[in-house]
Amino acid sequence: MEKMLEVRDLRKTFGAVAAVDGISFEVSPGEIVGLLGPNGAGKTTTISMILGILEPSGGEILIEDRGHMNFAAVYAPLPGNLTVAENLRVFGLIYGVENFRERLEELLKQFDLAKYRNTKAGLLSSGEQTRLCLAKAMLNKPQLLLLDEPTASLDPSIAREIRAEIKDFTVRGRGAVLWTSHNMHEVEEVCDRVLFLSHGKILLEGDPKVLPQRHGKKTLEDLFVAVAREPLSL
Ligand code: ATP
Repeated sequence: MEKMLEVRDLRKTFGAVAAVDGISFEVSPGEIVGLLGPNGAGKTTTISMILGILEPSGGEILIEDRGHMNFAAVYAPLPGNLTVAENLRVFGLIYGVENFRERLEELLKQFDLAKYRNTKAGLLSSGEQTRLCLAKAMLNKPQLLLLDEPTASLDPSIAREIRAEIKDFTVRGRGAVLWTSHNMHEVEEVCDRVLFLSHGKILLEGDPKVLPQRHGKKTLEDLFVAVAREPLSL
């Protein structure tokens, strides 16, 4: 099977800090891969390099189709002085989306934003802003989605709907997703495979449903805590 994303021996140093220290992994079509790790482990730095925002200090990033990649994160909100529809139009123009009006209506419906189409993005609640960011991320019908804590500010019911949308994107649409989250319950439910980062290195990799038992832990959260507190013991 072809890969949507291949990362080989990727590195990023900031002065003396090795934020990403030689990691290799891949993401295939139809797969959701969780990028996990404690604060400062190197997750956002990795995503920023894949997006091309940060220049790697070493290694390689191979992307099947850069034009069909997209991204959503709570720390990258859309311009607050533009309405929901205006924001989507601006990005639609940037991406060269065909039949934009039709796509706009589809996305407003899919992300339950129709009633806010003329509301300025800055006035939306944080959950609504997250939905707008996800709608923007879907505009160009991506094949590879990079999601940095996409459900962090959502209430449990909306978070569940968003997870279902993204699952559908991979199962029906054969999309590929790299997903960071600190919610281990969510990761277990959504991810086909997880990578545990610690100090810029991949410490563990595998199926989130079997990985904890393999390392003598009851739950993924217990394993996460062990990675965060005593990485050398693993
Ligand atoms: P979090 O879960 O807190 O978002 P993270 O896993 O995304 O953490 P990164 O933001 O990738 O972690 O940071 C990895 C390391 O690199 C940290 O030690 C951080 O302080 C450092 N770092 C990140 N960006 C810079 C920068 N521009 N200059 C210097 N150090 C940086």
